[in-house]
Amino acid sequence: MRERAARESRKAAARAPARAAKLSSADGCLEHRRVRPSMNRSQPLLCGVELGGTKCVCLIGTGPEHILAQTAIPTSADAGETLRQIADVLRRWQQMHGAFLALGLASFGPLDLRAGSRAFGQITSPAKPGWAGVDIVGRLGRVHGVPVGFNTDVIGAALAEGRWGGARDLADFAYMTVGTGVGVGLVVAGKPVFGCTHSELGHVRIARRPGDLWPGICRFHGDCVEGLASGPAIAARAGLLAEDIPDDNPIWELAAHAIGQLVHTMVLATAPQRILVGGGVVQARPQILRHVRRLLVESLNGYLDLEELTGGVDRYVVPPGLGARAGPLGALALAADAYAASQASRATVI
Ligand code: ADP
Ligand code: ZN
Repeated sequence: MRERAARESRKAAARAPARAAKLSSADGCLEHRRVRPSMNRSQPLLCGVELGGTKCVCLIGTGPEHILAQTAIPTSADAGETLRQIADVLRRWQQMHGAFLALGLASFGPLDLRAGSRAFGQITSPAKPGWAGVDIVGRLGRVHGVPVGFNTDVIGAALAEGRWGGARDLADFAYMTVGTGVGVGLVVAGKPVFGCTHSELGHVRIARRPGDLWPGICRFHGDCVEGLASGPAIAARAGLLAEDIPDDNPIWELAAHAIGQLVHTMVLATAPQRILVGGGVVQARPQILRHVRRLLVESLNGYLDLEELTGGVDRYVVPPGLGARAGPLGALALAADAYAASQASRATVI
């Protein structure tokens, strides 16, 4: 039955270029485009949704080189309405492209990821108004009857970097985003860090730069890394949109100080082999990464004799290999992992 579904899915995918051209833009989406028409038929058709603070990106395809369609829906305070729009897109894509075989949901958090928890699949805290207690997996996942991968947006992005991007063949690495928020997907010994919950390194408190007393904007902690270095924090401190702040403003180095302090902690805590730093702020302002590398080396102050920190810091703290696609492809990576796990458990049963 599943084999038949897979065959149908691939056939539909092969027909997709002509159909995808008929995609309508009348669905409230920010963008609705066919990214690549060709399909890799040997791979399962997957669907992913990256739920972000400002927009939710949906995509369908088999991997980074074979995306049939991608679309973004604004994340409104009306979670039910946002999820309804996403569900409509997924339903329409099923009709156009055939059944997808797994779904990945990569969401802003904090999330309940505890297997067996009554709240599994939900956003657990009111970090974004209107979204606390919203059951993402229940609303989007279970309805399609396919394996569902669910994790944080940054863990998804880290897994995508490990699978297709700048962390291939590494077992210990981190993906950090500096955008509307600051988040880190931390992979240790080949697995995302998970204990009583997922890690939330963006909210770590840091040693402040001497003389810098600005209180930060995190609703929970004030001057945690997110409260100091996220796009909204930088904008609040400057009194300007982050986009409008000149490149030579000292504020970029202050943001880099907070990020550098977090990287210092990460190096000492789980010793990643590489740290990939993306997100809208760092992508637009590459000088931040240059400051972060220098400030990291200064902060560690010769304590570790590692090539990563001496000669190779430019290759150690780097932009994501997948660039701005790391987040959306993270949702697809979660789908790919869910599909692989379902196939493996099937093989075990047989
Ligand atoms: P999200 O975190 O919601 O996924 P992004 O990673 O795209 O979104 O980051 C959005 C943040 O990036 C916003 O706070 C925005 O102000 C900031 N940003 C966008 N463009 C620039 C720019 N040119 N310079 C500095 N910050 C920018
Ligand atoms: Zn915080």
